[in-house]
Amino acid sequence: MFDNEYIYISQKVRLMPNKSQINVLTDFFNKARFIHNLAVTYYNKKLEETGEMLKAPILQSLYLKNKPQYEFLKDVSPTLQNKIFANLSIAIGKRMANKEANKFLFFKKKKTILYESFYLGKSEFSLVEKPNKKHHYIYFKGLGSSIKIQDKLRFKEGIPLFVTFKKELNKYYASITYKVKKDDYLSSLKYKIENNEKAIGIDLGINQFITTSCGLSIGAERPLLKSEKRLKMLYRRLDKKEHPRFKGDTTKKSNAYLKLSFKIAKLHNRIKKIRNDHLNKVSSVLVRNFAAICMEDLSVKELQNSKSFAKNEQDIAFYNLQTKIAYKSKLANHKFILANKYFASSKVCVKCGHIKEDLTLFNRVYRCPNCGFEIDRDFNAACNLFKYMKKIIGWGTSKFKPFELDKLVKDCDKNNLNYYFQSLGNNQSEIKKDALLTQKLNHASI
Ligand SMILES: [Zn+2]
Repeated sequence: MFDNEYIYISQKVRLMPNKSQINVLTDFFNKARFIHNLAVTYYNKKLEETGEMLKAPILQSLYLKNKPQYEFLKDVSPTLQNKIFANLSIAIGKRMANKEANKFLFFKKKKTILYESFYLGKSEFSLVEKPNKKHHYIYFKGLGSSIKIQDKLRFKEGIPLFVTFKKELNKYYASITYKVKKDDYLSSLKYKIENNEKAIGIDLGINQFITTSCGLSIGAERPLLKSEKRLKMLYRRLDKKEHPRFKGDTTKKSNAYLKLSFKIAKLHNRIKKIRNDHLNKVSSVLVRNFAAICMEDLSVKELQNSKSFAKNEQDIAFYNLQTKIAYKSKLANHKFILANKYFASSKVCVKCGHIKEDLTLFNRVYRCPNCGFEIDRDFNAACNLFKYMKKIIGWGTSKFKPFELDKLVKDCDKNNLNYYFQSLGNNQSEIKKDALLTQKLNHASI
């Protein structure tokens, strides 16, 4: 069997440790943090004294040289240590690549830290089944007894390769990565992946989260908007609490400040989860129902340079969506095409090919000065992306028969997506006639 018939996939599960297990986990978190901070001390000191940025392997050899001084690090697993230096290597790499960035590394402070983690390799942990218990358990050396896993394990056929234990705020998790046979993975999916000729272009938007060339638009996640408003309000309140306001300000963060920071971190965490869940659902629905997908290529560079917080958040969501669709398409043997970012999908008239140079972001409707065609701006862009892809792969259709549309609608409903179908352009009149669609349009939430 070839190795490419396997995939690597992670599942994050909630842990339910008891008090003594929490103590063991805390001990591991503390050791991981200590090693990190020790390495940061070496790095920052050298940087301050000579301006030189030490690389991770050098930091690691310095650490190993000094390790005997620290009796309590005697039994620390080599994989746990290696992972810390691998992470530092990434952090240092980023600082080297970005000339304007602060070159110093950050310490992890025990008092303020809300997220902690440590990593164990294949031979250092095991997943345990107990007779007459429906939950699984996880065990590693140092624990008195194995920790109960709350969630169902998804990839029981797979080989567990490594695990990251995490503490997020006050909850404990394990992110377990498996090597799974691709076929086992595909058969573990709850919904069947369609192998049809359906293909779509996807336009990423401000008004709608995404608009597709089959007429389906998916809106942003609503609870998220509410949470984001609340977040802004909390930040305003936080700023009024006592805290240092500039570099070198010696004001201590007040207890009220720290308490509110914790609340904000919790909300951030919630938003992250809702967003990730939404992205997972959207990408799964799309990949399951379409054998080929085309999106515009998002520039990572622009992402990094973006200064507006809100804009950046949305761009990151789009970028993550793109990554998820690309990944899932590959698993399903579906096509995924990225359109060159100079391909002006929104400026081209989908009907006659005229390029409207003066189109601005405020034009929600595309009116073609050449042929007079009128169409929703995002829908036009999505259709252009579809055409772009069809030229490359040579097949595909965005048109749906009623029963196919019904299936897609049901899948969106099942996943609680906030969706609707575009008010249709003339080229989609055959769908317009469909009673189901009319019904959906009437119930459209937007
Ligand atoms: Zn035209």
